[in-house]
Amino acid sequence: MFKLVCGAGNEDAESVKRLVFVYASAGCSIFDLSARKEILDAAKEGAKSAGREDVQYCVSIGIKGDKHIKKARINNSKCIKCSNCYNNCPNEAVYSSIIIDEKKCIGCGICEKKCPTGAITMEEKDVNYREILPYMVQNGVDIIELHIMGHDTVDLAKKWQVINDCNPKLASICIDRENFGNREVLNRINSMISVRVPYTTIIQADGVPMSGGADDYKTTLQAVAMAEVIQNAELPVYIMLSGGTNSKTAELAKLCGINYWGIAIGSWARKIVKPYVLQDDFWENKETQDKAIKIAKKLIESCK
Ligand code: SF4
Ligand code: SF4
Repeated sequence: MFKLVCGAGNEDAESVKRLVFVYASAGCSIFDLSARKEILDAAKEGAKSAGREDVQYCVSIGIKGDKHIKKARINNSKCIKCSNCYNNCPNEAVYSSIIIDEKKCIGCGICEKKCPTGAITMEEKDVNYREILPYMVQNGVDIIELHIMGHDTVDLAKKWQVINDCNPKLASICIDRENFGNREVLNRINSMISVRVPYTTIIQADGVPMSGGADDYKTTLQAVAMAEVIQNAELPVYIMLSGGTNSKTAELAKLCGINYWGIAIGSWARKIVKPYVLQDDFWENKETQDKAIKIAKKLIESCK
């Protein structure tokens, strides 16, 4: 199973429509989206243009503190216009005038790390999940994903309850080890899946979230390692690898004996088709579309 991660924070509808078109044409069957009506509509349009009405949609929300619900902010009084943020943003969210386009910012935090003056901070932007999640399930979303890398367990409990009340076909828990060790990770998962029917939950084993900038074994290593922690716990869940995933992930996972259900790829999948999907004449240019689809197909093949 291959899942294209458009980005939990990606609210750029046109970019989502193009990505879904390319990857649906290439054979992808699950698309991970920001939990917003206009983004779901854009994804459906992209899938329809690809002649794929059979795809599944997963929408993501996050608990307080999780980087997937953060957006970069610039304090202009500290900015020295060095352009590090502009040159390093993987999602074209920073303009040359050093203004951040919030809709394009996926909260990866790269600009914050590259800023020499501390002018950039990451601020949380949540959605009205009580309203939007039931809407999503009523409008064709099969999977709701909760990113749980934060310390606010009250927020976690509230959001998990709402997700379960919505009764999606599958719930997904996205977790990494940046803040917690293996024991805490498994404690959280065990407590969350105790309210669910066996094998109705996906654990998205996030290696290093939003880190898939390169296509090598090292970049995907932590995703495989995280999956191994979940697999060893023998839980009644499906394992999906993510966070630094690329065309080497399946090979490494198989070498390590990981029985994964699927592979979710975001940063790397978006990066390899970027030169094509950014073109102004994308929708009119079949040659451009075909080149992007060919690249996407190769990546999907590598995940089988
Ligand atoms: S580098 Fe990441 S956090 Fe910064 S603006 Fe770009 S997408 Fe947002
Ligand atoms: S990296 Fe920091 S200092 Fe440099 S342009 Fe961006 S916000 Fe300004």
